[in-house]
Amino acid sequence: MIDLLDLHTHTTASGHAYNSLYEMAASASGRGIRLFGSSDHAPAMPGSSHYYHFINFKVLPRTLYGMKLMMGVELNIMDFEGNVDLDQDLLEKLDYSIASLHQPCIKSGTVSQNTNACLGAMKNPAIHIIGHPDDSRFPIDYDTLTAAAREHHKLLEVNNSSLTPLSYRQGARENYVKMLELCRHYHTPVIVNSDAHCEADSGNHAAACALLEELDFPQELVVNTSLELLCGYIPRLSAILAQPEDARCGQLPRDTADTAPASVTGGTK
Ligand SMILES: [Zn+2]
Ligand SMILES: [Zn+2]
Repeated sequence: MIDLLDLHTHTTASGHAYNSLYEMAASASGRGIRLFGSSDHAPAMPGSSHYYHFINFKVLPRTLYGMKLMMGVELNIMDFEGNVDLDQDLLEKLDYSIASLHQPCIKSGTVSQNTNACLGAMKNPAIHIIGHPDDSRFPIDYDTLTAAAREHHKLLEVNNSSLTPLSYRQGARENYVKMLELCRHYHTPVIVNSDAHCEADSGNHAAACALLEELDFPQELVVNTSLELLCGYIPRLSAILAQPEDARCGQLPRDTADTAPASVTGGTK
């Protein structure tokens, strides 16, 4: 499978990951990734960074090791309405956001409550991806989830880390088999991400890709195969891709980035 991107990775700023942004990026680049996203845990995760970590991404280079760099966040879904732990104003300034259910931040409710939490997050225009919807500790109604992702134009993640024996999450393989069958039925696209917490895993999607191949999942429903396809889910991405090699992340005009054509948004202050 063509695999151009990894948008779910963690650095030491997450508190329980072990490499720098530059080390994580170098490793992903070595695996052939062309678009690299850094998504440290938002502040409600114990040990993660203060929100100041997320307000200064503007200083970073937009191109690292030959890849375009996107700076985002993995938000914690905090309640069954899908509220998250960073202010909306700040979220709208980031390149992209993932929202996930994590045990330190929310206790599992009923299937309907957990599903509602994900649906609430999907309705937030600044959230693009639902992270690891694969954990039997947070049971979800996959029929409702996949139909809603299609309706709200959001990506469901296939998380490589969940599919490895080291993961805390439970039942990922069985849950993904269910979810992917429904994604095929509803034509709901997915994104494959590493969720790497050390450089050895950055850009590594081997377990997720093996599962997609085993299920003969349609490649046209995997956004990793095409940056153009991903632009349909992260509208700001076309302006980011148009930025020159020497641009910084802060040189994208945020107020126009989601609407203006890429040709007029690159490289200005
Ligand atoms: Zn983590
Ligand atoms: Zn997570």
